[in-house]
Amino acid sequence: MMNIKCPYCGNRSEAEYSFGGPAHLVRPIPAAEVSDEEWVDYLFMLDNVKGVSAERWCHSHGCGQWFNMLRNTVTHEILTIYKMGESLESAKGGENGA
Ligand SMILES: [Zn+2]
Repeated sequence: MMNIKCPYCGNRSEAEYSFGGPAHLVRPIPAAEVSDEEWVDYLFMLDNVKGVSAERWCHSHGCGQWFNMLRNTVTHEILTIYKMGESLESAKGGENGA
């Protein structure tokens, strides 16, 4: 089981978190002009990355805040954790990994 460092609460067990899918997906807009195929691609046709992946996580049994994590899906190594609204590039210089 992973130990994840919430950017608001600190280190907690993986059991306190919920996986929220890939990070940095851009919702197609305007919704009224988006085709069914574009919605299907946005909602369901997600990459299944084997290796380093940017993901959304929620501290659902803690503070309830969402954040992003750069994680290796093979080794479960957490490379960095960064708040929503922060760029991956700015987070790479931080010390938020677990
Ligand atoms: Zn938290």
